[in-house]
Amino acid sequence: MQHCLILGGGLSGKAAERLAVSLGFSAAVLSDSPGLDADAAVAPADLVVTSPGVKPLTSPLWQAAMRRAARGECEFLSELEFGFRHWPGRVLAVTGTNGKTTTTELTAALLSAAGVDARPAGNIGYPLSDLAADLREGKLSAEALPVVEVSSFQLERCDTFAPYAAALLNLESDHIDRYAGGFGEYAAVKRRIFDRVAPENRVYGLSMDSPSPRRVTLCGEALMVDGDEVLIDLGDTALSAPHNRENLAAAVELCLRVLPAEAVLSPEFRLAVRTFHPGRHRLEAVHEAAGVRFVNDSKATNPASTVAALRSTPGMVVLLLGGLDKGMDFSPIAPFADRIRFAVLYGECRSKIAAALPPSVPTADCGMDFALAVGTAREHARSGDTVLLSPACASMDMFRDYKERGDRFTEYVRNGAEP
Ligand code: ADP
Repeated sequence: MQHCLILGGGLSGKAAERLAVSLGFSAAVLSDSPGLDADAAVAPADLVVTSPGVKPLTSPLWQAAMRRAARGECEFLSELEFGFRHWPGRVLAVTGTNGKTTTTELTAALLSAAGVDARPAGNIGYPLSDLAADLREGKLSAEALPVVEVSSFQLERCDTFAPYAAALLNLESDHIDRYAGGFGEYAAVKRRIFDRVAPENRVYGLSMDSPSPRRVTLCGEALMVDGDEVLIDLGDTALSAPHNRENLAAAVELCLRVLPAEAVLSPEFRLAVRTFHPGRHRLEAVHEAAGVRFVNDSKATNPASTVAALRSTPGMVVLLLGGLDKGMDFSPIAPFADRIRFAVLYGECRSKIAAALPPSVPTADCGMDFALAVGTAREHARSGDTVLLSPACASMDMFRDYKERGDRFTEYVRNGAEP
């Protein structure tokens, strides 16, 4: 019996284990731990599958797997590649720094409205290996079409992953701590999504140059298909913010790679565009009091998503910023200085953010105290302002994940946090 070793025991690791077992491997899941002999641990493996959370630069298990694979003693794949190799049909894929989840959900919702059995998968929370295992176990038809949200981490250790069509939404500074080669290396990894995609099926976000002609264009507030057909007026949707236009255009482009234009212009498809709402923690209005709006954008985990939030929020903003330092450059926020009434800084990289803001922006340093940060933000807001949690950083210095951070914010603004 062949042995499959899986690095990392989160969702992806569990999915890979499930698929490996259904393929007849003996399987074990391992994570780095102090004192573990990584070379001995990978020695029994014929196949090593890594979860995206395992970091190449710092993981002894990853490095040991690399050495073993270089000697030709095992294969070493990402979970995405493993799932893909066992998915017999087409897949669609979405990557980019921001907008992946929204675009993946939107694409799947629009395809479903057109009668396709579309399945959001990948980084969104249901790994492709789980879909492949579902298929093997007879729980899913091979007609199903996975729409896979792909992170840059998942594109490492991929050598046959070939989506039928794929979208690259945007490329901005993020996860710089993961790559020795900085932004250039991160961007190059993301672009690998297109390595095995036919040129006409490569979809670029509206903010990027597209080497091939676009089928979806914007004409004022109208989203047009193939030049002259109006698909929808953006004012009739919950997707009129500039970044969501980008997501919608990319989603419709992907749909046009698997559906005829008539299906995209059908009443069912248009209804699905009109009724789609981005998920929680993405510019989610959670409270209003004394003329102040409170918006939870906890999913904004890099400066570009905070810029998107500032672009789509009218009026003056009291901005909560901070969290884990991923080696990022916060200067893109500085041009919005005249829109920021007050910046409340908290978390690990608060001093770095303070240094990136112009002196004209008043700030408060709330240390590692989130309740104090929320209370301080409320104190500085005036009627007509928006208190915006759009932190530009990951949350894991103080929270389990962005959801916990957003829930905490929502709870504090609704119930009152004492500064
Ligand atoms: P991802 O899965 O890439 O993190 P999400 O759809 O979950 O993307 O959105 C993450 C954050 O980025 C949210 O704050 C959201 O408002 C913002 N955002 C969504 N789409 C875009 C985009 N196309 N460009 C910039 N920011 C975006």
